[in-house]
Amino acid sequence: MRILAFATGNAHKLEELEGIISSVTADGASWSGFRLKGLKDYPQIGEIEETGSSFRENALIKAQALYDYTGHTSLSEDSGLVVSALEGRPGIYSARYAGVHGDANSNMDKLLEEMDLISDRRCYFHSCICILDQSGPQYFEGNCHGTLLQERSGDGGFGYDPIFMPEGFRDSFAILSPEIKNRISHRSRAMALLRDFLRSRSRV
Ligand code: IMP
Repeated sequence: MRILAFATGNAHKLEELEGIISSVTADGASWSGFRLKGLKDYPQIGEIEETGSSFRENALIKAQALYDYTGHTSLSEDSGLVVSALEGRPGIYSARYAGVHGDANSNMDKLLEEMDLISDRRCYFHSCICILDQSGPQYFEGNCHGTLLQERSGDGGFGYDPIFMPEGFRDSFAILSPEIKNRISHRSRAMALLRDFLRSRSRV
């Protein structure tokens, strides 16, 4: 069993990543043989400050902290919601848009208020996964395009899920099942690229 150590303290993300690796994807490929660890397995690392100015920079900061501590190949994921009409905000500030890290309700309130009266509701989630070892960082990225709703719909998921409706669906991510979200999400797309990379590497 190969361990994937992900530099994330976000329990929702870890749960989603676990769902992704335990499912067989649309192309029939699976993640069998891998097990995930999160930052809770390395409490000594503590809080990692995300001081970068892009998804890649923040992903590298988190992977670097884990790599410096464990000395093993390390993974991280940085993600956020990118809104066209707001020049990409909240973007890398998604988790702390209203000021307090992880306050999803205040973040959604702030975003809905800013978007009041704006008709261009196009937006997408972005996920950037970084893998870091002695040969340096590599990045795997995925997007999930959709529409920002006018108000919350559903209470599943996490973060901005209640106000995001993915393209091709009529419900928010907070209503769609985790299985559907894990098939089409930004995170699952980035994870599929990572999986292919790890597969090709283990053949060498
Ligand atoms: P990070 O932990 O710094 O990468 O912050 C990611 C933030 O982006 C989360 O706290 C959410 O606010 C938002 N986000 C990322 N992915 C999702 C998702 O799948 N659903 C809802 N919100 C998300």
